[in-house]
Amino acid sequence: MNGKERAGKPIEELKLAGNLPSPTGVGLAILELTRGEDYSMGDVTRVIQTDPALTGRILRIANSAVSSPSQPITSVSQAAMRLGVRSVRNVALGFSLVSGNRSGGCRSFDYERYWASSLAVAVAAQALAEEVRGVTPTDAFTCGLLSDIGSLALASIHPERYSEVLRRAHVGGESLLLAERELLDIDHVQLGCALISEWGLPESFAHALASSDAREPEVAPSPEAQRLARLLRQALALAPHISAGGATGELPEGLDLDAARLGTVIARCRADWLDWSRTLQLPSAAREPSAGLVPTAGLEGAPTCAVTQARRKPGSGLRILAVDDDPVSLRLIALHLSRAGHEVIRATTGREALLAALEHAPQMVITDWMMPDMDGLELCRTLRSTEECRGMYVIVLTGRDRESRAVEAFDAGADEYFLKPFESRLLLARVGVGQRTIELREQVESDRRIQAQQVADMSVLNRKLEAAAMTDVLTRLPNRRFALRRLEEDLSIALASDTALSVVMIDIDYFKLVNDEHGHGMGDLVLRETANVLRGIVRREDTVCRLGGEEFLVVCPGANLEHATATAERMRRAVAHHVISFGYGRPVTISAGVAQREEGADSVDDLLRVADRRVYLAKAAGRDQVCSEDPPPPHAKSA
Ligand code: GH3
Ligand code: MG
Ligand code: MG
Repeated sequence: MNGKERAGKPIEELKLAGNLPSPTGVGLAILELTRGEDYSMGDVTRVIQTDPALTGRILRIANSAVSSPSQPITSVSQAAMRLGVRSVRNVALGFSLVSGNRSGGCRSFDYERYWASSLAVAVAAQALAEEVRGVTPTDAFTCGLLSDIGSLALASIHPERYSEVLRRAHVGGESLLLAERELLDIDHVQLGCALISEWGLPESFAHALASSDAREPEVAPSPEAQRLARLLRQALALAPHISAGGATGELPEGLDLDAARLGTVIARCRADWLDWSRTLQLPSAAREPSAGLVPTAGLEGAPTCAVTQARRKPGSGLRILAVDDDPVSLRLIALHLSRAGHEVIRATTGREALLAALEHAPQMVITDWMMPDMDGLELCRTLRSTEECRGMYVIVLTGRDRESRAVEAFDAGADEYFLKPFESRLLLARVGVGQRTIELREQVESDRRIQAQQVADMSVLNRKLEAAAMTDVLTRLPNRRFALRRLEEDLSIALASDTALSVVMIDIDYFKLVNDEHGHGMGDLVLRETANVLRGIVRREDTVCRLGGEEFLVVCPGANLEHATATAERMRRAVAHHVISFGYGRPVTISAGVAQREEGADSVDDLLRVADRRVYLAKAAGRDQVCSEDPPPPHAKSA
């Protein structure tokens, strides 16, 4: 079963809602590029270089990672040569995912803590892969980083509902997966697997995610997938020790690592993790990021940047980045702006401005044109080509002598230009014009979010209605409608691939007596418990449904008559041996009829008719038995 199949149709509906987290443009391009093994250093560096902010951050981490600061690394290709192209790819992917999804509208979900915690899993997975072999460390890293991506996705798609899910799980003590399924009809493991497939990542990642939820171990598609799944489980166990500060407290058991190495590995991971956290400005030593969720009382949690922006009152101050290499001019601009009620961040060079823009996410940038190192237009171009800064409103200040070249500023992406020296009233009026544009854009964005939310809510509602229409209320088994649809689908696959398919029809014996002697309530209880016993017996690929009344149908794709009869026999024995709770004295028994797809019986109606006939044969033969053949035809009367 692949990731998409695990989530089924929902992923398509969720995509419509438009809020699914994804690596941003460059990150996605890198993922695509590096999906196989045959990518070159040149390919990767070329893609990375299209995003200047990403380039800057990679250079920063590369320089902090090399021992000889006298020879600083100044290009992505140098970084790739020193660190290895795979590490550089990791850094790029990590940055892209984190920067594109580090905030959102779910108030109970701590996005930054989530990433800090995912990074701990990633470094642990990478370190374990280096120790135990058999899994590529880079794959281990990426898989670790995405190990809980489904939670982030659910928080992004359903910000309000997911807060309620978290409240139920943390305050109400409900299982997170159950609360997710109940409220959203999909859980974070299913959705995580679907996203992995959606992004074209290896199937082994989806398998590892699915198996990290130990309640539902899956059959590994390959030995590599099995190794990765094992490694991810270990990394998840190790991660809290890394973020908590070393090999203290009770260490996880069952690691593929001898005890002597464990301390060293944790210490190395911790250093790695701190490094990453610093670069991505994530909470690290200061807060213990053991989970991505804001626990209990933190339900009001610090609102994220995006939320703050969306909810800012129209007409109140903006967050403005002012950039000028002339300190007097800069002070003057800042003074006028802050007197007018705006929050001002200052920078004196283009490069400083770029970093400040990334860090503080201002709504407006007012920059001088002429500056050493990176001038105002270059800054403008860089902002426009950087994912996170693309939408900022930029005003370029210029001297009168350059007014004739104002068109160059617009070409570079400026929204407005303004002459220096300026009159403060005019400057503030221009800022006011910009503010109206910004507020309109924010309104559009907020409307878009609301619409996306409505689509998401509708998709949940649809899934719930659909599920309800297919589920039997009493036993929680799929109902007759589902049974017939499933049988129809499985049968057409079996016919097309010429494989076996059988059905088992089951009827509880003397069930009317249960009602008559003990009341309808006891009858219902017997139905529920019988359903549970049947559900527990069948293989993963079989489907047990309640056809109605006290009749059940099991669809067994791939099973011939002999195999299906053996399954039916196991069910018969299990039901007969099961003691119904609340002291229903009599053993409950079932009669079953088995039919297989074969020539002359290869339609849904044929199969059901043959199985039904055999149930009655089982009843006639004394009940509590399985019948899988018809009696021999009566001898022709002799003349
Ligand atoms: P046999 O061994 O021949 O199958 O006998 P039986 O008594 O099981 O069969 P019969 O068809 O005579 O009775 C089925 C009974 O199941 C009749 C009906 O009232 C009862 N029944 C059907 N649906 C429900 C239900 O949802 N709850 C309860 N408690 N009883 C139900
Ligand atoms: Mg019946
Ligand atoms: Mg019956």
